[in-house]
Amino acid sequence: MVQGSSAAAAIGTGGNVSLDTAADRYGVKPYPDLAYTPEIAEATAPIYEKVRHVIPAIEWPVHAPYVYHINRLKAERGAIILAHNYQTPEIYHGVADIVGDSLQLAQEAAKSQAEIIVQCGVHFMAETSKILCPEKTVLIPDSHAGCSLAASITGEDVRLLREAHPGVPVVAYVNTTADVKAEVDICCTSSNALEVVESLGAKEVIMLPDQYLAAWVASQTDVKIITWNGACEVHERFTGDELRAYREADPSIRIIAHPECPPDVLAEADFTGSTAKMIGWVQKENPGKVLMVTECSMADNVASEAPDVEFVRPCNLCPHMKRIQLPKILDTLVYMSEEVVLDPMMAAKARRSVERMVNLKS
Ligand code: SF4
Repeated sequence: MVQGSSAAAAIGTGGNVSLDTAADRYGVKPYPDLAYTPEIAEATAPIYEKVRHVIPAIEWPVHAPYVYHINRLKAERGAIILAHNYQTPEIYHGVADIVGDSLQLAQEAAKSQAEIIVQCGVHFMAETSKILCPEKTVLIPDSHAGCSLAASITGEDVRLLREAHPGVPVVAYVNTTADVKAEVDICCTSSNALEVVESLGAKEVIMLPDQYLAAWVASQTDVKIITWNGACEVHERFTGDELRAYREADPSIRIIAHPECPPDVLAEADFTGSTAKMIGWVQKENPGKVLMVTECSMADNVASEAPDVEFVRPCNLCPHMKRIQLPKILDTLVYMSEEVVLDPMMAAKARRSVERMVNLKS
């Protein structure tokens, strides 16, 4: 649930009503002039150096004023920007303070001293930050940035699953809404899913909502996995045939894939892991040519830091992640919109599930 700066009141998940908006608490700033001045060109030149491989010089004068004013306003507000690995390079390298996968962002949100968090990612990620940091103001530049996995299941579905499988512990992927997190025993990410499942010491575990992540975990463990039929609309579009065609064209290519991909895709991969683990693999292996089977922007972001590696990008973009853009981030910092608001009781229940995961990891 979000609360815009213009809203007189907002209904939070669980039915609470708040009359206080972030704009009321922090005030609205003047909207900046977005001219590309020599001062802005000079101030943003070091940032452009990081993205010049993926952003043509002709486009930089459009991005640079936003980058400059976002960073200025971020400092004035005492805010931090968290950006997921799937954000575009001008966000990832230009304005983010912390980048990473879902687990890394959740952990950093909890550690941060900043009072205001701007979450550049999809809505469940902003909810997760709010769950872990209830006292902080969490803003998302576009509250309609959803996720096909998070949309596939509700808290009520979890309650029905528990009735159908009494006594079986329930693990929820972090790609779920707060009301789902509130109903489960523990959360997981694609980084730690196997560890989380095995930590429960149960013969049987319900793992939701991603059928493919669950199938991948099931292939690595003796624990029986009961799953849900959710899928990531980006990763389920890859096919094993597509990857075989790349390998036939160049047998030296290394293929690394995200565990949200279907089993026939993972069967073709040389390595399977979360976005953070894929980045670690590229840094360690330093392959000549790598096919990164995940959302398209991640290869752009990693390519900036691995100039010797040739990246092949079978380009599937996440339409939800791409709703987050520089102009919306600037609006967020000017108008203090849109705030994530959660019912405190539901958030407290969800926090137990997320903290259990975070504590396990550390
Ligand atoms: S890439 Fe897939 S899992 Fe990630 S936010 Fe987009 S739809 Fe959801």
